[in-house]
Amino acid sequence: MTYRIEFDIAAVFLTLFIMYYIVFRKGLRRHANRVYLGMLVLNFLAEIADIIGSLANNDPYYYSPLIQYFWNFLYIVTHNMMALVLIIYLFYLIGYEKDKKKALIALSVPYVIEMLLILSNPFHGLIFYFDENRIYRHGAVFPLLYIIAFAYMTFGIYLVFRHRKGITAAKSNALFFFMLITFVPIIFQIIFPQYLLTLFFDTLGLMGILFTIENKDDVINPTTGILNRYALQTTLDRVMISGGYTMILLKIPNLNYYNKMIGFENMNDILRRISVWLEKQCDSYSCYDCGRAHFAVLCDGITGEETDHIKETTLKRFERPWGKGRFSLVFPVQFGVVKIPDDVKTMENLFMLIDAPFDGKITTELNVDKTISRYERNVLVERLIDKAVRNKSFQVYYQPIWDSNTGSVRSAEALCRLIDDEYGMIPPDEFIPISERNGAILEIGRFVFEEVCRFYKEERLKSHGIDYIEVNLSVVQCMSRDLEKLFVEILDRYSIDASCINLEITESATAENRKILVDTIGTLSKRGFNFSLDDYGTGYSNISYMYEMPFSIIKIDMSILWKAIDPKTDERERNAVIFLENTVRMLKDMGYHILVEGVETISQKLFLEEMGCDYLQGYYFSKPVQKKVFADYLKVVNA
Ligand code: C2E
Ligand code: MG
Ligand code: MG
Repeated sequence: MTYRIEFDIAAVFLTLFIMYYIVFRKGLRRHANRVYLGMLVLNFLAEIADIIGSLANNDPYYYSPLIQYFWNFLYIVTHNMMALVLIIYLFYLIGYEKDKKKALIALSVPYVIEMLLILSNPFHGLIFYFDENRIYRHGAVFPLLYIIAFAYMTFGIYLVFRHRKGITAAKSNALFFFMLITFVPIIFQIIFPQYLLTLFFDTLGLMGILFTIENKDDVINPTTGILNRYALQTTLDRVMISGGYTMILLKIPNLNYYNKMIGFENMNDILRRISVWLEKQCDSYSCYDCGRAHFAVLCDGITGEETDHIKETTLKRFERPWGKGRFSLVFPVQFGVVKIPDDVKTMENLFMLIDAPFDGKITTELNVDKTISRYERNVLVERLIDKAVRNKSFQVYYQPIWDSNTGSVRSAEALCRLIDDEYGMIPPDEFIPISERNGAILEIGRFVFEEVCRFYKEERLKSHGIDYIEVNLSVVQCMSRDLEKLFVEILDRYSIDASCINLEITESATAENRKILVDTIGTLSKRGFNFSLDDYGTGYSNISYMYEMPFSIIKIDMSILWKAIDPKTDERERNAVIFLENTVRMLKDMGYHILVEGVETISQKLFLEEMGCDYLQGYYFSKPVQKKVFADYLKVVNA
């Protein structure tokens, strides 16, 4: 029989190509990676040994017996090592970190027996031998090698199947493919033993792994060259299941600001330097670039001292500038240590911690508990908002607004309330910003507007002296194209004039979204709506936007009043009083009506009236109350 070595030669080229690809490409220093490279090297050696061994077997008298023996022997050694190395590779892939050593030792037993048999073959010839014509023959125990290889493969398939939830579908498919494809040539070679197909098929399987599992293009961040967010996500799938990990977080705040300051390219260069530095510091662990200059290091079995050491070196390094020349900058940095699963139980919470921006103050420590509880509270409130939107269970409270000129209540502010059966009252300062972020404010705004119109109509508020109701308008509502149509349609339904509604816009909103606001307010104003500027004095006090928008009332924020006259002690602070007096005078001179919020005491009321403030709102008159209470109140106060 003449062995055909063409397939082996093809396999050599394929293996060399894969090795080149793995080694000379920006690779990853991960354990699994190294094991994969190990499999390639073994495969390569086996191919060379198989080629030379087969040539010697084809033409035994041309080669010395030692050469013939050595290459056949090397082939059997290297090829039989593959199965165990594959199992080690699988262990790393599925993250079978714990008890790995014990399991590996147990699994190595058949391999050790097999190796002892192979190594001692020159003495007994039970694995292979050469007959008197120097023809290669399988020994009596050779089938045992097949049985052991088969057992390893079966165990491998079982491992992948059992842990398929922890690895992606693409990965497990590639592994199944690899293991199944190694069976094909065995069957083929039983029929056609002269065709040396085994290694060629092994190489095809390794190539399958290269293009799926070892293909790093989709898991590497092209800017920083380290693993990206997607890679972290897929790894975390199994980490969350197995536990016992620690994640180190490193965050640089305000990336946008630095991008603007020194330009994208220079900032990217700095991020690259930081990544390289970080990888060096944590070289036994995987470092991830999670975007927005937030980095994560996933550590398996790290000690407290080690994390402290990393923290210390990191904070020290960040005291010095990054980058070159005039583009070098010193950054504040936040450092966090998250234990999985002690600190976080879900992937969602973990990513929330990774993404959480600096909470205003530049602290070097990320407060895991605080950040998580803030996030969990947000999730809860979001759920409660959702429920209230579905059940239309928001309520609208009314807070009377005192008209100093007539000494009566001529208007009121509508304030939305979220009262949950289980969790009680959720303050608007909490649920309004959340609903602005998730868009629920559109539903809430519509609900409040309609409630106000219905109340105005049904209770005949006009006849009780109420000229208009103040309704808070969020800037998110202003971005909606249909706002005007919606409001007009509701007004028509209740036959109410637009002048019965004063829409309040907060000062901070005007600073951020000027263009949108100017447009929306312009159209609504043409329809007959009036506008008030809310919380004056808290945002960017840029007066120029006030000229562009037709405000009739300016609502001075309670913080300005409280600084001038403390509601608890009635004590006055000289400079704050001067500021308030001058603000009121200036705004009045500009032709605005003035409303002051947060009036809690009689002395505040008298002081503001003396100053000529048109409207007063605050607990001194009434807290925000339910519509029924408000209607009764009106009957008394405006009688
Ligand atoms: P805002 O529009 O400035 O409303 C005035 C807030 O001050 C109300 O808080 C009111 O209860 C409170 N307040 C009034 N007088 C006093 C006082 O004498 N002392 C004290 N300590 N507080 C007083 P509330 O109801 O908690 O609302 C907070 C904010 O939530 C509102 O501030 C407004 O920006 C927002 N908001 C409330 N309802 C709605 C709504 O339907 N839509 C929108 N977009 N925002 C709303
Ligand atoms: Mg308001
Ligand atoms: Mg206000």
